[in-house]
Amino acid sequence: MTALAIDGGRPVRDTLLPYGHQSIDEDDVRAVVAVLRGDWLTTGPTVSAFEEAFAAGVGAHHAVAVSNGTAALHAAVFAAGVGPGDDVITTPMTFAASANCVLYQGGTPVFVDVQPDTLNIAPEKIEAAITPKTRAIIPVDYTGQPADLDEINVLAAKHHLTIIEDAAHALGATYRQRRIGTLATMTTFSLHPVKHITTGEGGIITTDDPALARRLRMFRNHGITSEARERQEKGGWFYEMTALGYNYRLTDLQCALGLSQLKKLDGWLARRRAIAARYNAAFGELAEIEIPTVRADREPAWHLYVIRLNLERLRVGRAAVFRALRAENIGVNVHYIPVPWHPYYQELGYRKGQWPVAEAAYERMISLPMFHGMTDRDVGDVIEAVRKVIEAYRR
Ligand SMILES: *Cc1c(COP(=O)(O)O)cnc(C)c1O
Repeated sequence: MTALAIDGGRPVRDTLLPYGHQSIDEDDVRAVVAVLRGDWLTTGPTVSAFEEAFAAGVGAHHAVAVSNGTAALHAAVFAAGVGPGDDVITTPMTFAASANCVLYQGGTPVFVDVQPDTLNIAPEKIEAAITPKTRAIIPVDYTGQPADLDEINVLAAKHHLTIIEDAAHALGATYRQRRIGTLATMTTFSLHPVKHITTGEGGIITTDDPALARRLRMFRNHGITSEARERQEKGGWFYEMTALGYNYRLTDLQCALGLSQLKKLDGWLARRRAIAARYNAAFGELAEIEIPTVRADREPAWHLYVIRLNLERLRVGRAAVFRALRAENIGVNVHYIPVPWHPYYQELGYRKGQWPVAEAAYERMISLPMFHGMTDRDVGDVIEAVRKVIEAYRR
């Protein structure tokens, strides 16, 4: 057997394969340059064109573009009317932004544990956590597999709650034949380079509710009720700031990139699904690895591919497997450290041990490289490196 790179052997690859990466082509470059030569660098017609194309793509009535996915969540929490004294339920198995957005508006995140197979928030545990203070639920479509949205919508209707779906992982996913972006009160997406399409930094919120869309637009522009372009077109000067908003605008340059990227989304989703299928076939045979569970009624968008180690079958822990894979030049990662474990949340009084399913899963998980630009060779390298490391460490 060849020696592991961590023990001085030759790595499977000579260069590091990242866990996620954008794809940019000459059409993208031309689209951005064309905007640079035009009149509007921000809050111009390309922003509206991108919003319209995005909304049409997911089948929503409205889309509001903002400066990043975290701003999208913040705007949605604002539009939902969350404030001090309000609780908002979310999952611990996510990026910190899914909960931070509640703190920004003075609300309190309440973390509800996940299901052991999908690691999406468990609807039956949500019901037990609802109190008169609960205002909203932020389900996250973990790794790109939609959460149990029908069950969550039933709970929301029963208890008059707003649903803000954090679909940062799930652009292009479907749930019971319906597209993500239309299945919650508001759905937020991130356009960061590791996500499905990118604008450098960027975020977008979809909703079918015109009043919410108006509030979102106001919030991204300081809480002002009209935009500069509208005033220029109408020839007026008067405007009013009616709420404490932020400058969360996305530029026309970025929206030009977004429009160009959007055209390639379907092909990229197909590529991610093909990579996931290859991983499933390769790792499904290894008793040391648990591959992702996919529910039959939903098609994930495969933002991440997360394996869980069956540690009782290995001589070493997750950290050693992780280091060995990095030494083979496979850019593995971990998604996620449970949010309430972070020091900031610990100082707020959240205590470890309250989300046993998420916490146990965290100790065993590793994210493998997953992005649409991976070549067949890249995918083969990941499979070879995982097999090599598992064989070396198997009991
Ligand atoms: C990426 C991500 C965000 C934040 O998006 P940014 O564009 O980086 O601000 C929020 N939630 C989840 C689950 C994410 O993965």
